[in-house]
Amino acid sequence: MKKHFETEAIRTQMERSQYAEHSAPLYLTSSFVFEDAEELRAAFADELERNIYSRFSNPNTKELVDKICILEGAEDGLAFASGMAAVYSSFVALLNSGDHIVSVRSVFGSTHSLFKKYFTKWNIETTYFNADTPEEIEEVIQPNTKIIYIETPTNPGLDILDMKYLYEVAKKHQVLLVVDNCFATPYLQKPINFGVDLVIHSATKLIDGQGRVLGGLIVGRQDLITEIKYFYRNSGAALSPFNAWVLSKSIETLAVRLDRHCENALELAKHLQNHPKITKVKYPFLSNHPQYEIAIKQMLKGGNIVTLELKGGIKSGQTFLNQIKMCSLSANLGDTRTIVTHPATSTHSKLSPEERARVGITDGLIRLSIGLENIEDIKQDIDQALDKA
Ligand SMILES: *Cc1c(COP(=O)(O)O)cnc(C)c1O
Repeated sequence: MKKHFETEAIRTQMERSQYAEHSAPLYLTSSFVFEDAEELRAAFADELERNIYSRFSNPNTKELVDKICILEGAEDGLAFASGMAAVYSSFVALLNSGDHIVSVRSVFGSTHSLFKKYFTKWNIETTYFNADTPEEIEEVIQPNTKIIYIETPTNPGLDILDMKYLYEVAKKHQVLLVVDNCFATPYLQKPINFGVDLVIHSATKLIDGQGRVLGGLIVGRQDLITEIKYFYRNSGAALSPFNAWVLSKSIETLAVRLDRHCENALELAKHLQNHPKITKVKYPFLSNHPQYEIAIKQMLKGGNIVTLELKGGIKSGQTFLNQIKMCSLSANLGDTRTIVTHPATSTHSKLSPEERARVGITDGLIRLSIGLENIEDIKQDIDQALDKA
C-alpha cells in the first residue's frame, strides 16, 4: 500500500551502513573509490549506478532527491546549490539560441533578471502574460516557444494560476510546462498531478523551514531530468552533501510545520481583514482572493505568506517596518520566525515603479512570511506596528 505523505517524508531513507545507524549519517566526501580498473571504466560509462564524485552524486543528495520525487510523484530529480541554480540550469539545459519563453509577469525577481539580462544575450526572449488574465497566454505563445514558466502562488503577488488550464494550453501548443512550487511545497500541491513536466523548488524556503541552508530541486519527467543532469554535472551546480543532509531531515517535519504555518497565516489574514490602516489583505484561502476558487481546488491549505497593503504608501511601509519589535526584517521566507518585508524598497527595488505596478507591487505592499511563534504574539507585534504606521 502506498504510504501517506508524512510517513514517506520520514521513512524514505538511504540504506543503513555497517553501523546500523537509526538516523541517516552525513557522507562528507568529495569522491568515491573503485575496486579495480573495470569498475572505474563501468562507472564512467554509466553502466553502473554508483557514486563517482560528489559534483555528480552523493548518498545524502540521493536520499533528498528520492524523497522529494516520492512526495511530488515525480520520475526523477536533481538537487542544486540554490533555488536559482535549479531555475537557471533547467533553462540552460533545455533551451537553444532562438527559443522563446512564456512566463507569468509576476515571476520571482532573480528569475526575471535572468530572462531580461542574460537569456537575451543568447537570443532567448521572454514574453509575459498577466496572472489575472491567463487567457492572454494564447496570444503570446509563438512557434518557437519551448517553455511556459510559472509560479503559483507567485512571489510576492500571491497570484494563483490554474495549472489544469495551463497544462491544456501547453499540450495544445506542444510546449513544456514548468512550475516553481516554492510557496506551496508538495504538501500543499503536487503540480505533476496536473500534468506539469518539471517542478522547481527553492528548498531554502519552506523545505528547510528553519532559515539555515540554501538549496534547490528539480523533479519531473525522466527524459528532461536526464538532459538537465548532463549540464548539472558539468557546470558544478550540485548541492553540498551537508546541505542535502539538513534538507532531508527538514522534510521529515514539513507536514506538521506547514499545518501550523497555514493555520497561523489564515488566522492573521482574517484578523487584519478590516483593519483601518489597511486597504487590502491578500491570502489564497480568503474568499475575497481573486483566484480563491482555483486556490481551494489545487491547494490543500493557503500557505504561509500574507500580503498587506498599507494606506500610506512608501512612508507607511517604512514606518511599519521600523515599529516591528519581535518579527524579523529579512529577505527570506518560510522560516520558523515571522518575517516582514517591504518589496518596493528591497526585493523589487531594482524594478522601475511602472514594472512594479504591473506585477502588483505597490509602494505600501508588505509581505509577511508567517512563522511558528504563538499566533497571539505575532498578532500583537503586527497590531502595535500598524497602530503607528
Ligand atoms: C527564493 C526563491 C527562489 C530562489 O531560491 P534561492 O534558494 O534563494 O536561490 C526562486 N523562486 C521563488 C519563488 C523564490 O521565492
